Amino acid sequence: MSDTPLEQAARAARACTLCAAALPLGPRPILQIGDGARLLITSQAPGTKAHLSGTPFLDPSGERLRGWLGLGVDAFYDTTKVAILPCGMCYPGRLPRGGDAPPRPECAPAWHPRIMPLLKDVRLRLLVGGYAIRLVLGPRMGLETAVRGFAGHMAEGLFPLPHPSWRTIGWAQRNPWFEAEVLPALRLAVARALA
Ligand code: SF4
Repeated sequence: MSDTPLEQAARAARACTLCAAALPLGPRPILQIGDGARLLITSQAPGTKAHLSGTPFLDPSGERLRGWLGLGVDAFYDTTKVAILPCGMCYPGRLPRGGDAPPRPECAPAWHPRIMPLLKDVRLRLLVGGYAIRLVLGPRMGLETAVRGFAGHMAEGLFPLPHPSWRTIGWAQRNPWFEAEVLPALRLAVARALA
């Protein structure tokens, strides 16, 4: 049986070397896509652990994200349920003053327009972290403004979220509305998308 257009696009994406010269560990595009996925996670870019394992969110941030979504590991990595397409699919390196560099700017323009139309069953798209929020909602959109306004974005099939790194623990404590209002609505929206 011949590959579906989505499988062809996934294979092409995994072979991409478009910005190889700028990647300190070389290209290793990390994405999870499959026909039938109803939940799409637009994340930022893989870290070194994901680069080495080839699997996104297989770390404490992933555990936190799955807790937010109310999903177990099996459902999260089920390609018929969940697609993961980062803003930048390869590890982008470190900033001179510390922290991971931004997702490579070549990546989303090169691959999202090719892959997104093939994810025909997606009902809900999570924008995880500031880079994903600005990519989709515009460069001036603030993270807190986007997350607080989640109800308005849900009408467009979008759900903005902070990145689930350890830094978010303190942020969530300073912003109790996130756990009280956003997470219950998120779990309900995810359950409906996957029902
Ligand atoms: S970051 Fe994106 S554009 Fe650059 S090599 Fe990886 S897949 Fe290609």
